[in-house]
Order: sequence, then C-alpha cells, then structure tokens
Amino acid sequence: MGAPDIDYLIIGQGLAGSLLAWTLLQRRQRIHLIDDHHSGSASLAAAGLVNPLGGMRFNRLPHLEECLAAAGEDYRALEQVLGIPLWHPLGMVRLFREPGQRRFWERRRDDPACAPYLGAPFPPGGSGYAQLDDRHGGFRQRHTGYLAVSRLLRALRDRFRAQDLLSESAFVPDALHFTPRGLRYGERHCRRLVFCEGHRATRNPWFDWLPLQPAKGEILTLGSETPLADEIINARHWLLPLAEGGYRFGATNDHQRLDSQPTTEARQALLAGFQALFPHLPTPAVTDHRAGVRPNTSDRRPLLGAHPQHPELLVFNGFGGRGSLTIPWHARVFANWLDGRGELPADADIARLS
Ligand SMILES: Cc1cc2nc3c(=O)[nH]c(=O)nc-3n(C[C@H](O)[C@H](O)[C@H](O)COP(=O)(O)OP(=O)(O)OC[C@H]3O[C@@H](n4cnc5c(N)ncnc54)[C@H](O)[C@@H]3O)c2cc1C
Repeated sequence: MGAPDIDYLIIGQGLAGSLLAWTLLQRRQRIHLIDDHHSGSASLAAAGLVNPLGGMRFNRLPHLEECLAAAGEDYRALEQVLGIPLWHPLGMVRLFREPGQRRFWERRRDDPACAPYLGAPFPPGGSGYAQLDDRHGGFRQRHTGYLAVSRLLRALRDRFRAQDLLSESAFVPDALHFTPRGLRYGERHCRRLVFCEGHRATRNPWFDWLPLQPAKGEILTLGSETPLADEIINARHWLLPLAEGGYRFGATNDHQRLDSQPTTEARQALLAGFQALFPHLPTPAVTDHRAGVRPNTSDRRPLLGAHPQHPELLVFNGFGGRGSLTIPWHARVFANWLDGRGELPADADIARLS
C-alpha cells in the first residue's frame, strides 16, 4: 500500500484557503486546492481593511500583536514573490457617531494594551477634512491599512494554476472515500482534507453544526472629482482611499438574503450613507458594486480544528469581517498544530463547542 499522493487537500481558494496553502507550501507540504471559481466568495468582495480596534466600543482584537506581525510579514513576503503591491498601511480617522461614544475611547486610552493603537483625539469639526461631517469629534488610529484582497487571490490563483496545484470545480462530498491508505477524492489520495469554504460550510455534511452566522455585505467603488480624504474614514460607514485612485465605500450588513448579488437597495443605502458623511458634496459616480457573504460566527471567533469522529477532516474558517488581519497568524498556528508543534488557541479551537 503506497503513501498518499499529497498531504493536504484544501477546499476553497478564498483568503483562508489561499493563505493556508501558501503557509503549508513554505513548510514543504504537498497540497492541492479545489475551488469552484470563487462562487459566492467573501474575499473577492472584501475591502481588506485592517483595524485593530473594532466596533462601536473600539474593542481590542485577541492576539492582536501576533496577528499584526504575521499579516505584515506575510503580505510583504507575498508582494516580493508575486511582484505586485498588496499591503497598504494607511492612517484611520475614527469619528464618534454620538457624543456618548467618547467614553469608550476614554476607557481604551486608559488601557495600556490599547494605547499604542490610539492617536490624537480631535474636537467636533476638528478632523482636518472641511467637507466631512465630524460634528461629534473623534480620534486617529494607528496600525491600520488595507490589503488588496482580490488582487492577491487572482495572483495566487494564477500561480497555483501554473503549478498544477488547483482544480477549478465544485467539491462533491459523495466522491470522498475513507480508505486504509487515507482519504481518496476521485483519483487523488491525501492524508488530510481542510475545509476553507467560508459561509458555504453551512452546507458541509461533516461541519454543518458549526455556529456560522453568515452576513451579506455590499460595497461600492466611487469616483469623485473632489479629493475626499487621504486616510481611511471610519464612522457608521467607512471610506477607503485606494492607492490606484478612487474610493471604496461600505458596507451593508444583511443576515436574511445570503447571496452574492449586488442590490439596488444596498446601493441606495450606501449612497445615503455617503451623503450623511459628506453632506455638501454631490453624489459620486459608482464605478463598481460588489456583494459577498461574510463567514461570521456566533462568538466572533474563528473555527479551527478537526472533526470529532474523522480527525483527518479539518476546518479553517470563521474569520468573519476581519480575515485580512487574522488569517495569516491563524494559518501559522494551524500549520504548527498540524505538524504536532503546539496547541490551537483555545478561543479559536472548535473543541470549545463540544
Ligand atoms: C462586503 C464585504 C466587505 C468585507 N470587508 C472586509 C474588510 O474590510 N476587512 C477584512 O478583513 N475582511 C472583510 N470582509 C471579510 C472577509 O472577506 C473574510 O474575512 C474573508 O475573506 C473570508 O475568507 P474565506 O476564505 O474564509 O471565505 P471566502 O472568501 O468566501 O472563500 C471561500 C472559497 O471557497 C470556495 N468554496 C466554498 N465551498 C466550495 C465547494 N463546495 N467546492 C469548491 N469551492 C468551494 C468558494 O468558491 C470561495 O472561493 C468583508 C466581507 C464582505 C462580504
């Protein structure tokens, strides 16, 4: 009986599957990816914002220093290997949505673990952008920026294709067989299989019990005659100035309609959001409109680990609306764990669910 052809079969070439594949290749593992042309992909819709302090209360992300360091290192390394710009550090202006939100900023300011991420506060009207409605004031944030996610995925797809590491088709669960030689999928034998299916894991026959709470999001790309900002503006909506010109503006949040179709309602809601942020500017031209479904989870933590009955079936998912910052570090710890070197972080291990 021979050895398996490959070590890992990875289902899904979104940001999670791509960065895990890249991490495993660095460690000389034999891998193969299956992806059905990014159908319903969150990553292709994502703006790629990296923001260490999330939500209305500016909550600090767990494992923040490790995540920032791994993301910076991996995206810079991928820029070198792929020969394209990917990682764009960029300041962020955080606007208070109402006066009471300031107290959350004060709490973070007094917390030494958050202080390195906080820049100077400014009073109402003091953001430095004359056209912006900054009536409640705000503050500047550090260690923020964005990843050009779709550019990265397309470049990696081309590379995986060229190396014959990618099959572009749907994964068919009935074609997976558990044999004494390991797993067999079609003609391919593999030691282990990792599901990186994003929100579509809700239909996975082995992992449909995972607590995914998918949320559809839509974002616009805008052209504007008037320069709007040269930092990320983050309020009820966010505005991202792109390195190549133009702006991304987002995002909506819909838990009901879980498809990847851009809608007129979302476009109108986003343009109304733009008008609220820049009340004196004309409606900008919309040059692109994307939609995708975020793989959110009920406790906002990722889903990493092995199936309780079939330990050769693994999951690497649940990165919600923050995959650009969190996936690189989790890919490293997941690869270490696969190698028998180290534990999974308890807050991401699916063993927490049992
Ligand atoms: C509108 C929007 C804005 C966002 N903005 C940001 C942001 O600013 N910053 C940030 O960090 N994150 C953001 N996100 C979230 C980010 O997209 C996710 O964290 C991340 O991209 C998830 O990657 P993934 O690989 O887990 O999932 P996906 O990108 O959905 O990838 C899953 C892949 O698996 C494939 N697949 C699934 N099932 C199968 C199957 N059975 N057979 C074959 N292939 C299969 C799909 O085709 C897809 O390519 C945003 C998301 C959306 C929708």
